[in-house]
Amino acid sequence: MTQTSSLLSVRDLSVHFRLRRGPKDSRNVRAVDGVTFEIAKGQTLGIAGESGSGKSTVARSLVQITRPTGGTIYLDGSDVTSLKGRRLKEFRRRMQMVFQDPYDSLDPRMSVRDAIGEALSVSGLPRPRHDETVEELLRRVNLPASLARRYPGQLSGGQRQRVSIARALAVNPEIIICDEAVAALDVSIRAQVLNLLKDIQHDTGVAYLFISHDLSTLRFMADQVAIMYVGRVVEYGTSDEVFSRPLHPYTKALIAAVPSVTTRGRTRLKLNGEPPDPGNPPSGCPFHPRCPEAVDQCRLTRPELGTTNEGQSVACHVVLSRHGRDATRQVSP
Ligand code: SF4
Repeated sequence: MTQTSSLLSVRDLSVHFRLRRGPKDSRNVRAVDGVTFEIAKGQTLGIAGESGSGKSTVARSLVQITRPTGGTIYLDGSDVTSLKGRRLKEFRRRMQMVFQDPYDSLDPRMSVRDAIGEALSVSGLPRPRHDETVEELLRRVNLPASLARRYPGQLSGGQRQRVSIARALAVNPEIIICDEAVAALDVSIRAQVLNLLKDIQHDTGVAYLFISHDLSTLRFMADQVAIMYVGRVVEYGTSDEVFSRPLHPYTKALIAAVPSVTTRGRTRLKLNGEPPDPGNPPSGCPFHPRCPEAVDQCRLTRPELGTTNEGQSVACHVVLSRHGRDATRQVSP
């Protein structure tokens, strides 16, 4: 079955599970609930949201570390939602992950050469060519070839993350999912790694799904941005639209909390309180207990993602009634 011309097209992705907290306490958790987005070749989609918003579960369900319970994932037009065996292995080669903690992808007992060599074996490169290719990949991530003999524990945090990126590149992926990939790095090292990722994208055309709680990072990296709250996308648009003209009160509050991405003259909204328990979200709009713009309807009915007359996608009763809901447009994403 084929669908759309996007490289990655995700439709109504859901990850629901039953959480038991005791003999008489078991709840349905909608960790991801009807998430839809697309990523074109060579583009970056950023996903932002507080802890518990479901952004990492989206990433893990795309590579099927966590199996989706609903929805469809298309890669290059083919349905890859429930692959198994050899086809799942081949799919995972095409979509790589770089984690916050490099030890999630690097075995501390393996040298850098062996860690990258293992990935080269997956890509089918003959063993005699491994050494030269490992050196090339290390140079690609701006590391000296001499590092190939070292072990992860002998490297700095920034070097380890560059090795993780080199390992991901070893299999020529079409998409790299970066899950808080620079969150643990010092500011100056973080900037170097982000620039490196941009250079790699420019040279290879790889697409990124970039997950970060840090909006400055997303503003720098992303072409499109999805803001998630309790398992759902509440705002989606181009990076320029979302950061220059945020519409959802949650997006406004997230942006206002980061001075470097706040544009001059915008009213600052304070983000009060904590995100709700995904196993027991509030009625209606799950953001209503924290929302300064809430009206009665917000406590009763959950808003669906709709498109404003200006073309921005947002899930908010107040915004959609203020900016109109363009019924002639299909909801983007
Ligand atoms: Fe706030 Fe209501 Fe909009 Fe939810 S639907 S974000 S509570 S105004």
